Amino acid sequence: RIVYLNGTFLPIEEARIPVMDRGFLFGDGIYEVTAVLDGRFADNEAHLRRLDRSLGEIGIPNPHTVAEWTAIQNELVARNNLTEGLIYIEVTRGVQERDFAYPANLAPTVVMFTQAKPVRANAGLAKGASVITVPDLRWARRDIKSVALLAQVLAKQAAVNAGANEAWMVQDGVVTEGASSTAFIVTEAGELITRPLSHAVLPGITRGAVLRLVAGNGLTFVERTFTVEEAKAAKEAFFTSASTIVMPVVSIDGTPIGDGRPGRLALQLRELYIEALTAR
Ligand code: PMP
Repeated sequence: RIVYLNGTFLPIEEARIPVMDRGFLFGDGIYEVTAVLDGRFADNEAHLRRLDRSLGEIGIPNPHTVAEWTAIQNELVARNNLTEGLIYIEVTRGVQERDFAYPANLAPTVVMFTQAKPVRANAGLAKGASVITVPDLRWARRDIKSVALLAQVLAKQAAVNAGANEAWMVQDGVVTEGASSTAFIVTEAGELITRPLSHAVLPGITRGAVLRLVAGNGLTFVERTFTVEEAKAAKEAFFTSASTIVMPVVSIDGTPIGDGRPGRLALQLRELYIEALTAR
């Protein structure tokens, strides 16, 4: 596998990050993940915009223009013969003798790699995903896509340990989001609900795409918080992310959602989004 590191394409075994990289020592960095379908990027401009915003929010200079990022991504996809999977970008503040404070004009570290994996066909899709709820232990700026992901690591592992697929994080009784996804429910009245954007959640690119599809197909949605009890009583639940697209949720903490099978709206939105991404 060929990876990109600071201007060079090289075999992954030969790529080296210095011990004093602030990404390693402090989690002082930003990342992005874009899906690749039929060799094409899914909503890549939006991902690169969010990358730029996240970097700006923590004062790391964006080392590349959109055109430069895209050119590197294209070359990496070509060198790895990737047709379906993910492309990962990480930018850390750079390398410096360990110190919490950082000097001006540190050169950021840039790492990019691809992961070949099925995105369209998902082994868990026929059955649907099971979700557990966990306390949201994260910091107060979850809108920044930081590589400091300890709370999400623990949440996801708790889900795996419980035999579940995803953890929905809960604060003050309401669902914030999944460990690596945006949470949605559909009420018995047919209302599609997801949390409004704020510092409390990551502005999901897939979330935005799905809401545009919903609006474009004459369906309605409401941006508001919802409780765990409301989610358990919902007609449907699902989550979205670049890697899972739209994933129906069939149980929360062991409580079946609706009839316990993948919901119709979730599957419909998944199809619509894939269609939009792969249309020529
Ligand atoms: N929330 C969190 C906490 C995430 O980690 C992710 C995935 N990066 C998402 C939401 C979904 O974002 P996107 O649709 O842009 O992948």
